[in-house]
Amino acid sequence: MSKKVRVRFAPSPTGGLHLGGVRTVLFNYLFAKQNGGDFIVRIEDTDQGRFVAGAEEYILNTLKWCGLEPDESPLHGGPYAPYRQSERKANYKQYAEQLVHDGYAYYAFDTSEELEAKRKEVPNFQYNQFTRGGMNNSLTLSKDEVQEKLVSTPYVVRIKMVEDETVVFTDMIRGEVSFNTSQVDDKVLLKADGMPTYHLAVVVDDYLMKISHAFRGEEWLPSAPVHILLWKYLGWEADMPQWAHLPLILKPDGNGKLSKRDGDRLGFPVFAMDWTDPKTLETTIGFKERGFLPEAFVNLLAMLGWNDGTDREIFTLKELVEKFSMERVHKGGAKFDYEKAKWYNHEWIKGSEVESLESGVKTEFEKNGVVITDHTLLAKVIGLVKDRCTLLPDFVQQGSFFFQSPDTIDVAAVKPKWDEKKNLFFTELIRAYELSTLWEVHDLEKEFKELAAANQLKPGDLMLPFRIMLVGGKFGPGVFDIAALIGKGETVRRIEHTLGLIEH
Ligand code: GLU
Repeated sequence: MSKKVRVRFAPSPTGGLHLGGVRTVLFNYLFAKQNGGDFIVRIEDTDQGRFVAGAEEYILNTLKWCGLEPDESPLHGGPYAPYRQSERKANYKQYAEQLVHDGYAYYAFDTSEELEAKRKEVPNFQYNQFTRGGMNNSLTLSKDEVQEKLVSTPYVVRIKMVEDETVVFTDMIRGEVSFNTSQVDDKVLLKADGMPTYHLAVVVDDYLMKISHAFRGEEWLPSAPVHILLWKYLGWEADMPQWAHLPLILKPDGNGKLSKRDGDRLGFPVFAMDWTDPKTLETTIGFKERGFLPEAFVNLLAMLGWNDGTDREIFTLKELVEKFSMERVHKGGAKFDYEKAKWYNHEWIKGSEVESLESGVKTEFEKNGVVITDHTLLAKVIGLVKDRCTLLPDFVQQGSFFFQSPDTIDVAAVKPKWDEKKNLFFTELIRAYELSTLWEVHDLEKEFKELAAANQLKPGDLMLPFRIMLVGGKFGPGVFDIAALIGKGETVRRIEHTLGLIEH
Protein backbone atom coordinates (compact mmCIF):
# COMPACT_ATOMS: atom_id res chain seq x y z
CA MET A 1 0.00 0.00 0.00
CA SER A 2 1.39 3.39 -0.87
CA LYS A 3 1.88 5.90 1.89
CA LYS A 4 -0.79 8.50 2.53
CA VAL A 5 0.28 11.83 1.07
CA ARG A 6 1.30 14.17 3.88
CA VAL A 7 3.21 17.33 3.08
CA ARG A 8 4.43 20.12 5.26
CA PHE A 9 5.32 23.78 5.09
CA ALA A 10 7.93 24.34 7.77
CA PRO A 11 8.62 28.04 8.15
CA SER A 12 10.87 29.60 10.73
CA PRO A 13 9.00 32.50 12.32
CA THR A 14 11.53 35.17 11.50
CA GLY A 15 9.49 37.82 9.70
CA GLY A 16 7.12 38.48 6.82
CA LEU A 17 6.35 35.77 4.30
CA HIS A 18 8.15 36.22 1.01
CA LEU A 19 6.19 35.34 -2.11
CA GLY A 20 8.58 32.44 -2.68
CA GLY A 21 7.44 31.07 0.67
CA VAL A 22 3.80 31.37 -0.31
CA ARG A 23 4.54 29.58 -3.56
CA THR A 24 6.08 26.73 -1.54
CA VAL A 25 2.86 26.64 0.49
CA LEU A 26 0.82 26.61 -2.70
CA PHE A 27 2.70 23.72 -4.31
CA ASN A 28 2.44 21.77 -1.05
CA TYR A 29 -1.27 22.49 -0.91
CA LEU A 30 -1.95 21.62 -4.56
CA PHE A 31 -0.05 18.37 -4.32
CA ALA A 32 -1.80 17.37 -1.09
CA LYS A 33 -5.30 18.20 -2.29
CA GLN A 34 -4.77 16.56 -5.64
CA ASN A 35 -3.77 13.35 -3.91
CA GLY A 36 -6.36 13.41 -1.15
CA GLY A 37 -3.58 14.09 1.33
CA ASP A 38 -2.93 16.32 4.31
CA PHE A 39 -1.22 19.67 4.35
CA ILE A 40 0.60 20.41 7.57
CA VAL A 41 2.17 23.61 8.88
CA ARG A 42 4.97 23.09 11.34
CA ILE A 43 6.67 26.05 12.94
CA GLU A 44 10.43 25.60 13.06
CA ASP A 45 11.31 27.87 15.95
CA THR A 46 14.27 26.12 17.53
CA ASP A 47 16.58 29.01 16.75
CA GLN A 48 15.55 31.30 19.57
CA GLY A 49 18.01 33.94 18.41
CA ARG A 50 16.08 34.43 15.17
CA PHE A 51 12.60 34.15 16.66
CA VAL A 52 10.41 37.17 15.93
CA ALA A 53 7.22 37.78 17.88
CA GLY A 54 4.09 37.86 15.75
CA ALA A 55 5.65 36.09 12.76
CA GLU A 56 3.81 32.80 13.33
CA GLU A 57 0.46 34.52 13.54
CA TYR A 58 1.32 36.52 10.44
CA ILE A 59 2.19 33.35 8.50
CA LEU A 60 -1.04 31.62 9.47
CA ASN A 61 -3.05 34.74 8.63
CA THR A 62 -1.39 34.90 5.24
CA LEU A 63 -2.37 31.31 4.51
CA LYS A 64 -5.91 32.12 5.54
CA TRP A 65 -6.02 35.15 3.25
CA CYS A 66 -4.76 33.02 0.36
CA GLY A 67 -7.34 30.32 1.04
CA LEU A 68 -4.57 27.78 1.63
CA GLU A 69 -5.69 26.55 5.03
CA PRO A 70 -3.69 23.72 6.54
CA ASP A 71 -5.27 20.52 7.83
CA GLU A 72 -2.89 20.45 10.78
CA SER A 73 -1.01 23.34 12.38
CA PRO A 74 -0.44 25.02 15.76
CA LEU A 75 -3.74 26.78 15.14
CA HIS A 76 -5.75 23.89 13.73
CA GLY A 77 -4.28 21.18 15.95
CA GLY A 78 -4.03 17.61 14.70
CA PRO A 79 -2.95 14.08 15.61
CA TYR A 80 0.79 14.92 15.67
CA ALA A 81 0.59 17.97 17.92
CA PRO A 82 2.38 20.02 19.05
CA TYR A 83 3.25 21.64 15.72
CA ARG A 84 5.78 24.07 17.14
CA GLN A 85 9.25 22.61 17.44
CA SER A 86 10.03 24.61 20.56
CA GLU A 87 7.25 22.62 22.25
CA ARG A 88 8.70 19.34 21.03
CA LYS A 89 12.12 19.85 22.63
CA ALA A 90 11.94 16.62 24.61
CA ASN A 91 11.72 14.58 21.39
CA TYR A 92 15.07 15.35 19.91
CA LYS A 93 17.82 14.67 22.43
CA GLN A 94 17.32 10.90 22.39
CA TYR A 95 17.96 10.80 18.65
CA ALA A 96 21.11 12.87 18.98
CA GLU A 97 22.29 10.44 21.68
CA GLN A 98 21.42 7.48 19.47
CA LEU A 99 23.54 8.94 16.67
CA VAL A 100 26.50 9.42 19.03
CA HIS A 101 26.07 5.91 20.35
CA ASP A 102 26.05 4.47 16.83
CA GLY A 103 29.14 6.44 15.80
CA TYR A 104 27.41 8.84 13.43
CA ALA A 105 27.77 11.89 15.63
CA TYR A 106 30.02 13.15 18.40
CA TYR A 107 30.09 15.60 21.28
CA ALA A 108 31.99 18.82 20.72
CA PHE A 109 33.17 20.93 23.65
CA ASP A 110 34.84 23.82 21.86
CA THR A 111 33.92 27.09 23.50
CA SER A 112 32.71 29.98 21.41
CA GLU A 113 36.00 31.78 22.15
CA GLU A 114 37.96 28.82 20.80
CA LEU A 115 35.83 28.68 17.67
CA GLU A 116 36.15 32.40 17.21
CA ALA A 117 39.94 32.17 17.48
CA LYS A 118 39.97 29.36 14.90
CA ARG A 119 37.88 31.42 12.50
CA LYS A 120 40.29 34.29 12.85
CA GLU A 121 43.29 32.04 12.32
CA VAL A 122 41.93 30.03 9.36
CA PRO A 123 40.02 31.88 6.67
CA ASN A 124 36.64 30.22 5.91
CA PHE A 125 37.19 27.76 8.73
CA GLN A 126 34.82 24.81 8.61
CA TYR A 127 34.32 22.26 11.35
CA ASN A 128 34.58 19.16 9.18
CA GLN A 129 36.27 15.84 8.53
CA PHE A 130 39.56 17.60 7.84
CA THR A 131 39.62 19.83 10.92
CA ARG A 132 37.71 17.90 13.57
CA GLY A 133 40.88 16.02 14.60
CA GLY A 134 42.37 19.25 15.91
CA MET A 135 39.37 20.29 17.94
CA ASN A 136 37.97 19.56 21.39
CA ASN A 137 35.53 16.73 20.91
CA SER A 138 34.70 13.19 21.87
CA LEU A 139 36.76 11.93 18.92
CA THR A 140 39.96 13.59 20.12
CA LEU A 141 39.61 13.52 23.91
CA SER A 142 39.99 10.47 26.11
CA LYS A 143 36.91 8.65 27.40
CA ASP A 144 37.48 10.02 30.90
CA GLU A 145 37.87 13.56 29.69
CA VAL A 146 34.69 13.24 27.71
CA GLN A 147 32.76 11.89 30.71
CA GLU A 148 34.08 14.69 32.85
CA LYS A 149 33.22 17.38 30.28
CA LEU A 150 29.74 16.04 29.68
CA VAL A 151 28.82 16.87 33.24
CA SER A 152 30.88 20.00 33.71
CA THR A 153 30.77 22.01 30.49
CA PRO A 154 28.27 22.95 27.81
CA TYR A 155 28.55 20.89 24.64
CA VAL A 156 26.95 20.39 21.26
CA VAL A 157 26.40 17.27 19.18
CA ARG A 158 27.77 17.32 15.64
CA ILE A 159 27.17 14.94 12.78
CA LYS A 160 30.27 12.98 11.84
CA MET A 161 30.20 13.49 8.13
CA VAL A 162 31.44 10.37 6.42
CA GLU A 163 34.53 10.78 4.28
CA ASP A 164 34.37 10.80 0.50
CA GLU A 165 31.02 9.18 0.00
CA THR A 166 28.56 10.10 -2.73
CA VAL A 167 25.03 10.75 -1.56
CA VAL A 168 22.57 10.29 -4.38
CA PHE A 169 18.86 10.99 -4.31
CA THR A 170 16.05 11.60 -6.74
CA ASP A 171 14.45 14.99 -6.55
CA MET A 172 10.96 15.24 -7.98
CA ILE A 173 11.92 18.36 -9.92
CA ARG A 174 15.63 18.01 -10.61
CA GLY A 175 15.88 14.25 -11.08
CA GLU A 176 19.03 12.60 -9.81
CA VAL A 177 21.14 14.82 -7.59
CA SER A 178 24.43 13.81 -6.03
CA PHE A 179 26.81 15.29 -3.49
CA ASN A 180 30.19 14.27 -2.25
CA THR A 181 30.30 14.26 1.53
CA SER A 182 33.78 15.83 1.57
CA GLN A 183 32.12 19.12 0.73
CA VAL A 184 29.79 18.98 3.69
CA ASP A 185 30.75 20.18 7.16
CA ASP A 186 29.98 18.55 10.50
CA LYS A 187 26.74 20.38 11.19
CA VAL A 188 25.63 20.91 14.77
CA LEU A 189 22.59 18.72 15.51
CA LEU A 190 21.96 19.56 19.13
CA LYS A 191 22.86 22.88 20.67
CA ALA A 192 24.30 23.58 24.10
CA ASP A 193 20.86 24.65 25.37
CA GLY A 194 19.48 21.21 24.49
CA MET A 195 17.54 22.54 21.51
CA PRO A 196 18.00 20.73 18.23
CA THR A 197 19.20 22.65 15.21
CA TYR A 198 17.05 22.81 12.13
CA HIS A 199 18.90 19.83 10.58
CA LEU A 200 18.05 17.38 13.33
CA ALA A 201 14.59 18.74 14.04
CA VAL A 202 13.46 18.70 10.42
CA VAL A 203 14.41 15.04 10.01
CA VAL A 204 12.97 13.89 13.32
CA ASP A 205 9.70 15.73 12.77
CA ASP A 206 9.28 14.72 9.15
CA TYR A 207 9.66 11.15 10.41
CA LEU A 208 7.39 11.45 13.45
CA MET A 209 4.74 13.35 11.47
CA LYS A 210 4.85 10.76 8.67
CA ILE A 211 5.67 13.26 5.95
CA SER A 212 5.59 11.62 2.53
CA HIS A 213 6.84 14.47 0.32
CA ALA A 214 9.01 17.40 1.34
CA PHE A 215 8.72 20.52 -0.82
CA ARG A 216 11.03 23.40 -0.08
CA GLY A 217 12.98 26.15 -1.76
CA GLU A 218 16.08 25.38 -3.77
CA GLU A 219 18.19 27.19 -1.17
CA TRP A 220 17.85 24.06 0.98
CA LEU A 221 19.42 21.78 -1.60
CA PRO A 222 22.93 21.98 -0.04
CA SER A 223 21.41 20.71 3.24
CA ALA A 224 19.84 17.69 1.57
CA PRO A 225 22.87 15.37 1.96
CA VAL A 226 22.94 16.04 5.71
CA HIS A 227 19.24 15.24 5.98
CA ILE A 228 19.46 12.14 3.82
CA LEU A 229 22.35 10.77 5.85
CA LEU A 230 20.44 11.45 9.06
CA TRP A 231 17.46 9.50 7.73
CA LYS A 232 19.84 6.65 6.98
CA TYR A 233 21.78 6.84 10.26
CA LEU A 234 18.62 6.91 12.31
CA GLY A 235 17.46 3.74 10.53
CA TRP A 236 14.47 5.40 8.88
CA GLU A 237 15.57 5.30 5.25
CA ALA A 238 12.52 3.34 4.13
CA ASP A 239 10.27 6.14 5.40
CA MET A 240 12.20 9.04 3.93
CA PRO A 241 9.97 11.55 2.11
CA GLN A 242 10.42 12.25 -1.56
CA TRP A 243 12.21 15.54 -2.01
CA ALA A 244 11.20 18.40 -4.24
CA HIS A 245 13.41 21.50 -4.26
CA LEU A 246 11.44 24.30 -5.87
CA PRO A 247 13.18 26.72 -8.22
CA LEU A 248 13.87 30.21 -6.92
CA ILE A 249 11.87 33.28 -7.78
CA LEU A 250 14.43 35.59 -9.34
CA LYS A 251 14.95 39.35 -9.45
CA PRO A 252 13.34 41.00 -12.47
CA ASP A 253 16.69 42.55 -13.34
CA GLY A 254 20.03 40.82 -12.99
CA ASN A 255 20.56 37.47 -11.37
CA GLY A 256 19.78 35.95 -8.05
CA LYS A 257 16.92 35.40 -5.70
CA LEU A 258 14.28 38.10 -5.45
CA SER A 259 14.70 39.80 -2.10
CA LYS A 260 12.71 42.24 -0.02
CA ARG A 261 15.38 44.80 -0.89
CA ASP A 262 14.66 44.36 -4.61
CA GLY A 263 11.03 45.12 -3.90
CA ASP A 264 11.97 48.29 -1.98
CA ARG A 265 14.35 49.29 -4.74
CA LEU A 266 11.92 48.71 -7.59
CA GLY A 267 8.75 49.75 -5.77
CA PHE A 268 6.74 46.57 -5.53
CA PRO A 269 5.76 44.23 -2.71
CA VAL A 270 7.62 41.01 -2.03
CA PHE A 271 5.75 39.98 1.11
CA ALA A 272 2.25 38.52 0.93
CA MET A 273 0.77 40.94 3.48
CA ASP A 274 2.03 44.04 5.29
CA TRP A 275 4.65 43.12 7.82
CA THR A 276 5.67 45.37 10.68
CA ASP A 277 8.98 44.51 12.26
CA PRO A 278 8.26 44.51 16.01
CA LYS A 279 11.71 45.89 16.81
CA THR A 280 12.16 48.66 14.28
CA LEU A 281 8.40 49.19 13.75
CA GLU A 282 9.20 49.47 10.07
CA THR A 283 6.36 48.28 7.86
CA THR A 284 6.95 46.46 4.60
CA ILE A 285 4.07 46.57 2.18
CA GLY A 286 2.31 43.37 1.11
CA PHE A 287 0.44 42.26 -1.99
CA LYS A 288 -2.79 42.26 0.00
CA GLU A 289 -2.49 45.88 1.04
CA ARG A 290 -1.35 46.92 -2.44
CA GLY A 291 -4.77 45.78 -3.57
CA PHE A 292 -4.23 42.28 -4.94
CA LEU A 293 -7.05 39.77 -4.75
CA PRO A 294 -6.01 36.54 -3.05
CA GLU A 295 -7.25 34.57 -6.07
CA ALA A 296 -4.99 36.58 -8.37
CA PHE A 297 -2.04 36.29 -6.00
CA VAL A 298 -2.40 32.50 -5.84
CA ASN A 299 -2.86 32.32 -9.61
CA LEU A 300 0.23 34.35 -10.40
CA LEU A 301 2.35 32.38 -7.92
CA ALA A 302 1.30 29.10 -9.51
CA MET A 303 2.47 30.41 -12.87
CA LEU A 304 5.89 31.30 -11.47
CA GLY A 305 7.45 27.96 -12.24
CA TRP A 306 4.55 25.94 -13.63
CA ASN A 307 2.14 25.86 -16.56
CA ASP A 308 -0.44 23.38 -17.76
CA GLY A 309 1.24 22.83 -21.11
CA THR A 310 -1.00 25.33 -22.94
CA ASP A 311 -1.07 29.13 -23.14
CA ARG A 312 -3.74 29.35 -20.51
CA GLU A 313 -2.86 31.66 -17.65
CA ILE A 314 -5.98 32.18 -15.55
CA PHE A 315 -6.82 29.41 -13.09
CA THR A 316 -8.91 29.23 -9.95
CA LEU A 317 -7.46 27.40 -6.98
CA LYS A 318 -9.84 24.53 -7.67
CA GLU A 319 -8.63 24.29 -11.26
CA LEU A 320 -5.03 24.39 -10.09
CA VAL A 321 -5.71 21.48 -7.75
CA GLU A 322 -7.03 19.51 -10.74
CA LYS A 323 -4.35 20.43 -13.22
CA PHE A 324 -1.18 20.79 -11.17
CA SER A 325 1.56 18.32 -11.97
CA MET A 326 5.07 18.05 -10.62
CA GLU A 327 6.33 17.05 -14.08
CA ARG A 328 5.48 20.50 -15.35
CA VAL A 329 7.30 22.41 -12.61
CA HIS A 330 10.33 24.03 -14.22
CA LYS A 331 13.84 23.38 -13.02
CA GLY A 332 15.06 26.90 -13.69
CA GLY A 333 14.19 29.92 -11.60
CA ALA A 334 11.34 32.18 -12.67
CA LYS A 335 11.96 35.90 -13.06
CA PHE A 336 9.41 37.97 -11.20
CA ASP A 337 7.61 40.55 -13.34
CA TYR A 338 5.48 43.02 -11.38
CA GLU A 339 3.68 44.31 -14.48
CA LYS A 340 2.62 40.75 -15.25
CA ALA A 341 1.52 40.30 -11.63
CA LYS A 342 -0.71 43.35 -12.02
CA TRP A 343 -2.07 41.93 -15.26
CA TYR A 344 -3.26 38.87 -13.34
CA ASN A 345 -4.99 41.07 -10.81
CA HIS A 346 -6.66 43.11 -13.51
CA GLU A 347 -7.94 39.94 -15.16
CA TRP A 348 -9.25 38.70 -11.83
CA ILE A 349 -10.97 41.99 -10.98
CA LYS A 350 -12.61 42.11 -14.41
CA GLY A 351 -13.75 38.51 -14.12
CA SER A 352 -14.96 38.69 -10.50
CA GLU A 353 -18.59 38.90 -9.47
CA VAL A 354 -19.47 42.34 -8.10
CA GLU A 355 -20.51 40.79 -4.82
CA SER A 356 -17.15 39.20 -4.18
CA LEU A 357 -15.40 42.57 -4.65
CA GLU A 358 -17.72 44.57 -2.39
CA SER A 359 -16.01 44.23 0.95
CA GLY A 360 -12.48 44.82 -0.42
CA VAL A 361 -13.57 47.86 -2.40
CA LYS A 362 -15.52 49.28 0.55
CA THR A 363 -12.41 49.00 2.71
CA GLU A 364 -10.40 50.90 0.10
CA PHE A 365 -12.98 53.68 -0.02
CA GLU A 366 -13.08 53.91 3.75
CA LYS A 367 -9.29 54.03 3.98
CA ASN A 368 -9.57 57.13 1.80
CA GLY A 369 -12.29 58.76 3.86
CA VAL A 370 -15.15 57.94 1.46
CA VAL A 371 -18.06 56.73 3.56
CA ILE A 372 -20.28 54.13 1.92
CA THR A 373 -23.82 53.92 3.19
CA ASP A 374 -25.63 52.99 -0.01
CA HIS A 375 -24.66 49.41 -0.82
CA THR A 376 -26.85 49.22 -3.88
CA LEU A 377 -24.97 52.17 -5.30
CA LEU A 378 -21.66 50.55 -4.33
CA ALA A 379 -22.56 47.40 -6.27
CA LYS A 380 -23.55 49.45 -9.33
CA VAL A 381 -20.35 51.48 -9.19
CA ILE A 382 -18.21 48.36 -8.93
CA GLY A 383 -19.99 46.86 -11.94
CA LEU A 384 -19.43 50.04 -13.92
CA VAL A 385 -15.74 50.62 -13.19
CA LYS A 386 -14.21 47.23 -12.48
CA ASP A 387 -12.90 46.80 -16.02
CA ARG A 388 -10.79 49.91 -15.48
CA CYS A 389 -9.21 48.78 -12.22
CA THR A 390 -5.96 46.90 -11.90
CA LEU A 391 -5.52 47.08 -8.14
CA LEU A 392 -8.22 47.58 -5.50
CA PRO A 393 -7.18 51.20 -4.70
CA ASP A 394 -7.94 52.05 -8.35
CA PHE A 395 -11.61 51.86 -7.39
CA VAL A 396 -11.11 54.95 -5.26
CA GLN A 397 -9.79 56.98 -8.18
CA GLN A 398 -12.34 55.52 -10.57
CA GLY A 399 -15.30 55.70 -8.23
CA SER A 400 -15.11 58.19 -5.32
CA PHE A 401 -17.01 60.80 -7.30
CA PHE A 402 -20.09 58.58 -7.20
CA PHE A 403 -20.25 59.02 -3.45
CA GLN A 404 -18.99 62.56 -2.98
CA SER A 405 -18.39 65.65 -5.08
CA PRO A 406 -14.89 65.74 -6.57
CA ASP A 407 -12.35 67.54 -4.38
CA THR A 408 -10.89 69.41 -7.31
CA ILE A 409 -12.14 70.27 -10.77
CA ASP A 410 -9.64 70.45 -13.60
CA VAL A 411 -10.98 73.78 -14.88
CA ALA A 412 -7.78 74.43 -16.78
CA ALA A 413 -8.63 71.53 -19.11
CA VAL A 414 -11.94 73.18 -20.05
CA LYS A 415 -11.12 76.89 -20.17
CA PRO A 416 -9.07 77.16 -23.41
CA LYS A 417 -11.97 75.95 -25.55
CA TRP A 418 -14.70 77.50 -23.49
CA ASP A 419 -17.06 80.08 -25.06
CA GLU A 420 -20.43 81.67 -24.56
CA LYS A 421 -22.17 79.02 -26.71
CA LYS A 422 -21.00 76.28 -24.40
CA ASN A 423 -21.95 78.29 -21.38
CA LEU A 424 -25.42 78.67 -22.79
CA PHE A 425 -25.66 74.97 -23.62
CA PHE A 426 -24.87 73.88 -20.07
CA THR A 427 -27.21 76.46 -18.61
CA GLU A 428 -29.97 75.03 -20.79
CA LEU A 429 -28.90 71.50 -19.95
CA ILE A 430 -29.44 72.26 -16.27
CA ARG A 431 -32.98 73.37 -17.04
CA ALA A 432 -33.69 70.40 -19.29
CA TYR A 433 -32.37 67.91 -16.77
CA GLU A 434 -34.27 69.59 -13.94
CA LEU A 435 -37.49 69.12 -15.88
CA SER A 436 -36.64 65.57 -16.85
CA THR A 437 -39.01 62.99 -15.46
CA LEU A 438 -36.93 60.04 -16.58
CA TRP A 439 -33.43 59.64 -15.21
CA GLU A 440 -32.05 56.78 -17.27
CA VAL A 441 -28.78 56.63 -19.19
CA HIS A 442 -30.50 56.46 -22.55
CA ASP A 443 -32.82 59.46 -21.92
CA LEU A 444 -30.04 61.58 -20.47
CA GLU A 445 -27.93 60.99 -23.55
CA LYS A 446 -30.84 61.70 -25.88
CA GLU A 447 -31.68 65.01 -24.22
CA PHE A 448 -28.03 66.02 -24.20
CA LYS A 449 -27.62 65.33 -27.91
CA GLU A 450 -30.87 66.98 -28.92
CA LEU A 451 -29.96 70.08 -27.01
CA ALA A 452 -26.49 70.12 -28.62
CA ALA A 453 -28.07 69.85 -32.08
CA ALA A 454 -30.49 72.68 -31.28
CA ASN A 455 -27.50 74.83 -30.34
CA GLN A 456 -25.50 73.75 -33.38
CA LEU A 457 -22.81 72.24 -31.24
CA LYS A 458 -21.08 68.88 -31.66
CA PRO A 459 -21.80 66.56 -28.72
CA GLY A 460 -18.16 65.45 -28.95
CA ASP A 461 -16.99 68.94 -27.94
CA LEU A 462 -19.28 68.99 -24.94
CA MET A 463 -18.54 65.56 -23.53
CA LEU A 464 -15.16 66.43 -22.01
CA PRO A 465 -16.42 69.52 -20.16
CA PHE A 466 -19.38 67.48 -18.94
CA ARG A 467 -17.07 64.73 -17.70
CA ILE A 468 -14.86 67.22 -15.90
CA MET A 469 -17.93 68.76 -14.26
CA LEU A 470 -19.07 65.37 -12.99
CA VAL A 471 -15.81 63.71 -11.97
CA GLY A 472 -13.25 66.51 -11.78
CA GLY A 473 -10.88 65.17 -14.45
CA LYS A 474 -10.41 63.21 -17.65
CA PHE A 475 -11.25 59.75 -16.35
CA GLY A 476 -14.10 57.48 -15.35
CA PRO A 477 -16.72 55.44 -17.17
CA GLY A 478 -19.39 56.79 -19.57
CA VAL A 479 -20.61 60.26 -18.56
CA PHE A 480 -24.29 59.38 -18.84
CA ASP A 481 -23.74 56.27 -16.72
CA ILE A 482 -22.24 58.57 -14.11
CA ALA A 483 -25.07 61.12 -14.29
CA ALA A 484 -27.65 58.35 -14.06
CA LEU A 485 -26.05 56.95 -10.93
CA ILE A 486 -25.33 60.16 -9.03
CA GLY A 487 -28.87 61.36 -9.65
CA LYS A 488 -30.53 64.55 -10.80
CA GLY A 489 -29.81 66.84 -7.86
CA GLU A 490 -26.12 65.99 -7.77
CA THR A 491 -25.67 66.22 -11.56
CA VAL A 492 -27.22 69.67 -11.64
CA ARG A 493 -25.23 70.82 -8.63
CA ARG A 494 -21.94 69.71 -10.21
CA ILE A 495 -22.67 71.46 -13.52
CA GLU A 496 -23.57 74.67 -11.68
CA HIS A 497 -20.51 74.46 -9.50
CA THR A 498 -18.12 74.14 -12.47
CA LEU A 499 -19.86 76.89 -14.42
CA GLY A 500 -19.20 79.10 -11.42
CA LEU A 501 -15.54 78.14 -11.37
CA ILE A 502 -15.09 78.76 -15.10
CA GLU A 503 -16.54 82.25 -14.77
CA HIS A 504 -14.09 83.33 -12.11
N1 GLU B 1 12.59 25.88 8.50
C1 GLU B 1 13.01 25.89 7.13
C2 GLU B 1 12.68 27.26 6.57
O1 GLU B 1 12.63 28.18 7.31
C3 GLU B 1 12.29 24.79 6.38
C4 GLU B 1 13.05 24.15 5.28
C5 GLU B 1 12.42 22.80 4.94
O2 GLU B 1 11.27 22.81 4.50
O3 GLU B 1 13.04 21.78 5.18
O4 GLU B 1 12.46 27.47 5.41
